[in-house]
Amino acid sequence: MDGTDRQPAFSSTPQRFDAIVVGAGISGLVAASMLAAKGEKTLVVDDYAQVGGNHLDWTSPEGYTFDVGSLIFQDDSPLLRHFPEILDHYVPIDPSWGRLNPQKKITTYPISVRDDILAAGPLGLLRIGASVLYARLFRRRMDNARDFARYWIGAHLLWRSGLETYMCRFYGIVPEAIDIDLARKRMLWISEHASIGNLLKKLFKPASVAGPANRQMARPKEGFAKLYDVAVRRLVNDGVAFQLSAGLRRIEKTASGFHVITDSGEFSAKRIVSTVPIPAMERLCQLPSQSPLETITLISLYFSFRGDRGFPQSIIYNFSHDGAWKRLTVYSDFYGAINEREYFAVEVIAGQVNTVEEAEDDFRRHVERNGLFKGALNLEGSQILENAYPIYSKGAAQRADEAIKRLRAFGIESMGRQGAFNYQPTARVSTIDVEMALADLSVQDAPPLKSEMTAALSG
Ligand SMILES: Cc1cc2nc3c(=O)[nH]c(=O)nc-3n(C[C@H](O)[C@H](O)[C@H](O)COP(=O)(O)OP(=O)(O)OC[C@H]3O[C@@H](n4cnc5c(N)ncnc54)[C@H](O)[C@@H]3O)c2cc1C
Repeated sequence: MDGTDRQPAFSSTPQRFDAIVVGAGISGLVAASMLAAKGEKTLVVDDYAQVGGNHLDWTSPEGYTFDVGSLIFQDDSPLLRHFPEILDHYVPIDPSWGRLNPQKKITTYPISVRDDILAAGPLGLLRIGASVLYARLFRRRMDNARDFARYWIGAHLLWRSGLETYMCRFYGIVPEAIDIDLARKRMLWISEHASIGNLLKKLFKPASVAGPANRQMARPKEGFAKLYDVAVRRLVNDGVAFQLSAGLRRIEKTASGFHVITDSGEFSAKRIVSTVPIPAMERLCQLPSQSPLETITLISLYFSFRGDRGFPQSIIYNFSHDGAWKRLTVYSDFYGAINEREYFAVEVIAGQVNTVEEAEDDFRRHVERNGLFKGALNLEGSQILENAYPIYSKGAAQRADEAIKRLRAFGIESMGRQGAFNYQPTARVSTIDVEMALADLSVQDAPPLKSEMTAALSG
């Protein structure tokens, strides 16, 4: 990928450590913070040239900074317990969300009573009602994400609102193939907000005016480095060492722990915490990869624009039945326009389109058909991110669990969005997950290694 190549200003490479954390994303930084607090001499190693993991940005030649899609943070995030000094570097924002529905209308996200239900007309309303009733009576069994959504809003509204098509875009596979447990976790809002009872309540009771209790914030205008460099500085002060652009080659078991071999040196430690993709760690440990774990490749398109964009919201989700793009974010609403030019990023899940050129062409044609972005639209740049997030096909969670157990049998503690193949929408969730994983699992708690190894390799 053509990401930034910020070089760390703070890198030191002592050879022996108590713990080595592989991956310097949010999970790796939180793990390092916890290990350092326990007094463990810790090294963080990453092949990336910068910390922050998939919080990745890109700056155009004229100096505008875009990113792959990590847009919203909160001032009550548990991440701030570890790194309180980053709070001052966020930009407070007041974001608004919208959605392009299949009827070519920018409307409320995630569902609009007026535009998705009432606008269907008397016959449409009858069909929506009948399909909900049918689902509640005869489709109670839920095996996948489509079953779950259909049970709550009925097949007709699922299609009419564009939610079914959006789910394909979001998950990278058809909703019938999506694991039911993930659907329950990820789409709780459907049962909470889109049940007919709640929709009726919304219709007759004015919405509460109370805003969220926490403050919404975006990354600094200049990019993530400003945010995470202070976190690194604090960790370094606490005795944590960093080896970025490491060129990880392999990890070997030794009598006293592990030997990590990289292009930039060799390091040893009693303990390894991994936050990188499971297949990457399996390769490093030379363990056979028995569990195909698919991930989404994300194409990010970075545009500047002058003209009439056609909507006031800062974030738009594509719920229409065509167009490969998933979401767009207008950064200039947060950071300011330049000479009346607005700046925004478009996220496209690879599959339907696979190159930047295809994604750009598809986006331009789609917005034109939908009457959006009338004016001068320039592609400023792009990024392609592999392993952006896991594809939660049926059985994937179980395959990931088995792979994590095999790594554990080898002695590696694997966690985080990549390392646990887990649904982690925000830094908040990543922080809590690592806190729980490191609180639960310590080297002393681990079962005897030899028997685990035998079981794992024979299984
Ligand atoms: C599209 C998108 C939108 C997001 N939006 C938000 C948001 O709005 N708010 C928010 O708080 N968080 C957001 N996040 C962040 C995310 O949800 C997690 O909180 C966070 O990225 C998880 O950090 P991690 O350290 O577990 O894993 P990651 O940051 O994914 O990765 C950790 C490490 O794994 C390794 N790695 C990753 N990919 C590869 C690869 N392809 N090959 C080899 N090694 C790799 C790298 O060493 C990396 O440092 C978003 C992320 C993405 C991708």
